[in-house]
Amino acid sequence: MSFDLVLFGGTGDLAWRKLMPALFQAFRHGTLPEGGRIIGVARDDLSDAQYRTLIRSRFDEVDLSKRPSPEEFDRFAALLHFLRMDLSKPQDFQRLAATLRERNADTVVMYLATAPSLFTVACEQLAAAGLNTPNTRLVLEKPLGHDLASNRAINEAVRRTLSEKQIFRIDHYLGKPSVQNLFALRFGNSLFEPLWRRETIANIQITIAEDLGVEKRGAFYDNTGALRDMVQNHALQLLCAVAMEPPINSHADAIRDEKLKVLRSLKPWTPESLGQHVVRGQYTAGTVGGEHVPAYRDEPGVNPESTTETFVALRTEIANWRWAGVPFYIRTGKRLAGRDARIILNFRPAPHAIFRSPLGAANRLVIHMQPKDGLELHLLAQGQDNRQRTKGAVQSLAPVHLDLDFDKRFGAERVGAYERLLLDVIDGRLNLFVRSDEQEEAWRWVEPIMDSWRNDASGPRPYAAGTWGPSASSAMIARDGYCWSEEC
Ligand code: NAP
Repeated sequence: MSFDLVLFGGTGDLAWRKLMPALFQAFRHGTLPEGGRIIGVARDDLSDAQYRTLIRSRFDEVDLSKRPSPEEFDRFAALLHFLRMDLSKPQDFQRLAATLRERNADTVVMYLATAPSLFTVACEQLAAAGLNTPNTRLVLEKPLGHDLASNRAINEAVRRTLSEKQIFRIDHYLGKPSVQNLFALRFGNSLFEPLWRRETIANIQITIAEDLGVEKRGAFYDNTGALRDMVQNHALQLLCAVAMEPPINSHADAIRDEKLKVLRSLKPWTPESLGQHVVRGQYTAGTVGGEHVPAYRDEPGVNPESTTETFVALRTEIANWRWAGVPFYIRTGKRLAGRDARIILNFRPAPHAIFRSPLGAANRLVIHMQPKDGLELHLLAQGQDNRQRTKGAVQSLAPVHLDLDFDKRFGAERVGAYERLLLDVIDGRLNLFVRSDEQEEAWRWVEPIMDSWRNDASGPRPYAAGTWGPSASSAMIARDGYCWSEEC
C-alpha cells in the first residue's frame, strides 16, 4: 500500500522531537508500509537535501537507542521530501495538489502539526484544492480549541471538509502501551471485572505528574494552563478508560460510545463543588532533583503576573450504577516531586478485621504508565516472623505486592505512543483516536471550572517546585478520609 504523509509544521518542535523519531522507529521495525513518502511542509525555503540534513541533525538530540546509524538514516532519508508552503495562501495548496498527483498514493495523510489557529483555513484550502478525496486522512493535534465554542468551530470546519471516519484527533496517551494494557486487563481477562465497581472500590486516583517546568514553551503554556493542557484531554481519557463499560466489540465507535457515556455521566459542577473539589496551583522557586529551579512567573515567555495554573487537583463522581458514590481524584502538574503517571484503584478494606494490619492498609491496584510501564497488586500478607508471636496475640499483616513490569516482560523496545498512532492513521484504524462528541463533552465539563476561576481574584495557590502541589490538594482528599498514594 503506498502512502503520502504530509507533515504540516514539518520543521517544528513536535515534528522533530516526536513524529520523525516515531516514523524512524516504525521504519527500523519494518512496520512502516513500503512505498511511502513523508513530505515536510513549512514556510522555510528548503530543498529536500537541506530538509534531510535538518532532520538528521535533530536526531542527535533523541535517546541514543533511538538514533539511526548513518546507513539507517540514509535509507530512511530517501522517504523525506520538503515542500515550501504557507497555509494561509490558496495558491500554495495547488502546488501541494500537483505534488500529490505525481504519485496518486493509495492513502494520503495530512498531519496538522501547526498552531490550531491554522486548522480552519487549512481545511478550507484543502477542500478548495480538491484534496478532500475519500483516500485522505486528516490528523489533528491538541489543543483543539481553548473552550467548547472554539472546539466546535474547528470540528465544524473539519467536518465540512471530510467525514468523521477520515478525522484522527490525537490524544497520545491513548497510544501508550500501558493504556492499551488497561483495556487488555479489563476486557481480555475476567478476573477483575466483578471487582471493578462501587461495591469493592473505595476510590480511584489518576495522577499525571511532571518534574519538568514549561521548558521552552512558556508563551504557549501561559495561554493554556494545566486544565486545558492535561485535564480536558489526557486525564479525562484515562478516566474513561478506567470507568467505561465493556464495549460490545473492539470497533472504534463501540469503544468511543462507551467513553462518551462516562463523560456524560460525570457529576455536573455546582458552586459548592467548584469551591471544595477543585484546587489550582502555580509553582514558585524550589529544588527539583537537587537543582534550584525558578518560579513559573520567572520562566521565559511567561507573564510575571501570570495567574495561569501549573497544577490542578479535583474530585469528581460518575453518576451511574457501577460508580455512584465512588470518588475519582485527578491530579496533574508541572515541577512536582517526580515524573509519574499512574492510576490507582483503592479497594475497600476487609469488612471485618480478624488480623492486625497497618492503619489504612487495603488492597490496591496500581497501573503505572510513566516512567515505568506495569501493574502492581498490593495485598496484605503475614510479614512478621511467627516465632516472635506470643500466645493469644492477634496475627499482624504487612503490605506486599505482586509486580508485573511490562518493560521487563515484553522488552522496553515496544511500540511507542506516536509510532502506534502514526501506523494506525496510515492503516485507517480509529480505535485510539478521539471522536468530536467526546471532545465536546469534555470541554462542556471543564468549562464551569474555567468560568469559576475567571471570576475568582484569589488566583492559583503557590506551591514550591519539587513538592506534590499545594497543601489544599491533600486537604481536599483528606476530607473524604483518604490520602494521595505517596502520603499513606
Ligand atoms: P512549532 O515548533 O512552533 O512549529 C510550528 C511549525 O508550523 C513550524 O514548522 C512552522 O514553520 C510551521 N508553520 C507556522 N506557520 C505556518 C504557516 N502559516 N504555514 C505553514 N507552516 C507554518 O510548534 P510545535 O511545538 O511543533 O507545535 C505544533 C502543534 O502541535 C501545536 O498546535 C502544538 O500545540 C501541538 N503540540 C505540540 C507538542 C510538542 O511537544 N511540541 C505536543 C503536543 C501538541 P515555519 O514557521 O517555517 O512556517
